[in-house]
Parts: sequence; structure tokens; C-alpha cells
Amino acid sequence: MLKGSSKLIFEGSTEGRTGFSLPTLDVESVELSDLYEEKYIRQTDARLPEVSELDIMRHYTELSNKNHGVDTGFYPLGSCTMKYNPKINEKVARMGGFSHAHPLQHSKTVQGSLEVIYEMQESLKEITGMDEITLQPAAGAQGEWTALMMIRAYHEANGEGHRNKVIVPDSAHGTNPASATVAGFETVTVMSNEEGLVDIDDLKRVVGDDTAAIMLTNPNTLGLFERDIMEIRDIVHQAGGKLYYDGANLNAIMSKVRPGDMGFDAVHLNLHKTFTGPHGGGGPGSGPIGVKKDLVPFLPKPMVVKKDGSFELDNNIPQSIGRVKPYYGNFGIYLRAYTYIRTMGPDGLKEVSENAVINSNYMMRRLQNSFVLPYDTHCKHEFVISGSKQKKQGVRTLDMAKRLLDFNYHPPTIYFPLNVEECMMIEPTETESKETLDGFCDTLIKIAKEAEETPEVVLEAPHTTVIGRLDETQAARKPVLKYKFED
Ligand SMILES: *Cc1c(COP(=O)(O)O)cnc(C)c1O
Repeated sequence: MLKGSSKLIFEGSTEGRTGFSLPTLDVESVELSDLYEEKYIRQTDARLPEVSELDIMRHYTELSNKNHGVDTGFYPLGSCTMKYNPKINEKVARMGGFSHAHPLQHSKTVQGSLEVIYEMQESLKEITGMDEITLQPAAGAQGEWTALMMIRAYHEANGEGHRNKVIVPDSAHGTNPASATVAGFETVTVMSNEEGLVDIDDLKRVVGDDTAAIMLTNPNTLGLFERDIMEIRDIVHQAGGKLYYDGANLNAIMSKVRPGDMGFDAVHLNLHKTFTGPHGGGGPGSGPIGVKKDLVPFLPKPMVVKKDGSFELDNNIPQSIGRVKPYYGNFGIYLRAYTYIRTMGPDGLKEVSENAVINSNYMMRRLQNSFVLPYDTHCKHEFVISGSKQKKQGVRTLDMAKRLLDFNYHPPTIYFPLNVEECMMIEPTETESKETLDGFCDTLIKIAKEAEETPEVVLEAPHTTVIGRLDETQAARKPVLKYKFED
């Protein structure tokens, strides 16, 4: 359902018009058939839009304007940390010495780049309280998988290869059970108690000599701090399991408390969340992992090490699980994260956590009278509210999320975590002003009022976007991915 006058680029095509001009060839041309087998050469020209450079420029600019991004509006998507990406990061990432380096260059010629990797490892060790860091994994989920493969290798090396279960709380991010499954483990769910925290009795029930690890995040996915983390650590360690920390959203605790000090053995971070790498649109991510001593021998190779004042790639890691990413991972994201860490400094990173938590608590309190607040306690960097009151009026959380689009807000995460009915999970981040937070709260309160008084306005939303409600099942099952000519 396309609204307005939006024209597709194929429809603006005029025969013979071109968007480029190349000089005439002054070298001998090559026949395609000299290069490829006949069957790979197309017999008819592809039907492409014939437009001028200006037309195509406008086309793409118009498309980009239709996108919602952190640079165009508030984006309180819980568990995604959609915060501002400082533009100085981009400047550093584009410096020629970095951006023109080739991953196959001899290490002597890229000492600066290796130094950045080394320094990142050192900074992240300090931030996480871990003994060693690898930057290789390209995303949070790949970091989870990498660490679980290392935990598997660790148990096997100790003659305990039978440990095949990974414990995951019912509020966990979906990647946790997914990574555990891909790493060949069976997942076991541990339930939350009425306070939204890990139920210790249930943990004691599920833990055993087949436990390989537990995957947790603290604060958990409801934005609540697991008070009993030391007891959880002891229960799992005494059973011979390892503790894995999902540090995708470190915003809440950075420079305040460290996963390493809470007793975790492995952690992943998302440089594209907490550390201001651009995020979304399928762009490159980075999910470094940190591990304690026991797991160090199994790190992916190569590692960047410092020897006699220079930086080298160390491939001599006999028990390594091997390489998990070509070359050295997404180096451009390290540069952005490194710039962020160095511009903030330790005190700045502490302030980040404080402001992320204050912003989140402020919004939770402003919204508590209009929505159901399932856990009425201090939250950390994010919080959940429930649309169960509005559901009784015939308006669901999905409808309210769609209505937010009319006011140029990206909706929060909805229907996640699964253990809260009609859930909205809101993460404001520290980079937003009080005015922005107030604007969003005012709008959500207004939508709650509409749900009561004029529900059809909410049920039919969005009204202002180019595309209205999609049939989301059809869109997923039968996506239309290319333009089809009518003739
Ligand atoms: C985003 C996120 C992940 C996964 O990170 P990706 O980079 O998207 O793979 C894992 N856990 C939590 C809590 C997250 O928020």
C-alpha cells in the first residue's frame, strides 16, 4: 500500500538516457566469450532504468529520507542501544593510513593498525575485568558462539566433553539459546521469579554435572540488576560450569562494576552498541569477547601481541579453536570504538552509565501511570512497561508502536522479553536530552489516551508513512524483492 506520489525509479525511465559518460576505449577490447563460458553470458541486455545522474541521485536521497535513523529521530529500541554515533569516529576511521591498509600487508608495514587492535584489547580488558580479549567476532551473536566453542574446548580438554547443557533464563535475548544450539549444546531454561530475577531454587534444580555454562546478563533483559549474582556464580562454579556474560548493552554498568569481578568467565561486548559503532541496516558489527585465564588457551587465532616494542600476529596458539572471521575482524569498527573510548576517558564512561540509568528511570516514572509497570523498582539502562491495560480496551502494543511512527519516533522493542504480556521495552540511552525524553513520554501518554477515547486512530496507524500496515506474515513468507515490469 504505497501512499503519496512516490515513483519507483523504473517508472521514471526514458529510453536512451544515461547517468554516466565514459571516455572511449583506447585499449584493445576483450570479448566476453574469451573470459567466460558461453552459458554464463547473457543473451539479452538487462532491463535497467535509463535515467540521468541527477535522477538517480534524487532517487537514492529520497529513499534515505524515508528511513528512520539515530541521526533523524529518537530511537528507543530496547536492548539495541541506538545511541548517537559521534562524527569524530568517522573522521578517524577514514584516515588514509587506516582505510587504505590491506589485510595481507606485512605486519611491519601496519604497526599503527596493529597498535590500535592491541590498545583496544588492553582497554576492553580493563573495562570488563577479563584476562584476555579477542576482537575477531563480527557481531554479538558470533561472540556468544565463539566463547561457547571455547567453553566446549575447555571442557573437552579436561575430559569433561559430556557437559552438553547451557542454562539460559526465560528473559534472555534470543541470540543466547540460538548461539548455544549452533555451538552444539542443548539449552535449559531457568525461570525468573516474581521480581524478574533468576529464581535461585529453579537454578539449583537445573544445574548439574552436565552443565557446560550459564548465559546471563546483569542487568538482565528486563533492565534489573541480579542482586544474587555471587550466589549464582558459586552454584554454577561448584557444579563445574562456566559463567557467560552477555555484555551487548554494557551501558548500564560500564566503569561501575565489571563482569570479571562478578565472577563471569567469558563476556562479549557489542562495539556497535555501547561503543558507538554505527548500527543497523546490516552494517558491519563487532562483538569482541573477553575471557578469564582458564579459557585463554582456546582463543581464536591470530592474536595481536606486543613483543620488544613492536606488534605482531601470534598464530602459535596450539589449543585455539581456530579463526572465526577472515583477517582481523571488522577493523573499521574498532577505530570508531577506540576513538570513543579515548575521547570519553574512564570518567566519561562512568558518566555514560550514570546518565543512561537516570534517563531510563526518569522515563519509567513518567510512564507508570499510563501503562502497567510490571516491576516497580529501580531499573538500569532500560525498562519494560506493559500494554495490558490498553489491550482490554481493544488496542494492542503493536498498534501503539505503529502510532508512534506518526510522530517520527522509532517504536521501542515490543513483545520482548517474552515473560511480560504486551511488553514494550524502552532504552533511551545517555545521549538524549531531557526535552527529547519528555517529548516521547508526552506522545506515548497521548497515545494511551487515544486508546481509551478514539481507539480507531491507533488501530489504523500509521497515517503519515509512505507504507501503512504490512501483512507481516506475507512480507516474511513471500517477499517481493525485485521490480516486475508489467508487460
Ligand atoms: C544485540 C544483542 C545481542 C546480539 O548482538 P548482535 O550484534 O545483533 O548479534 C545479544 N544480546 C543482547 C542482550 C543484545 O542486546
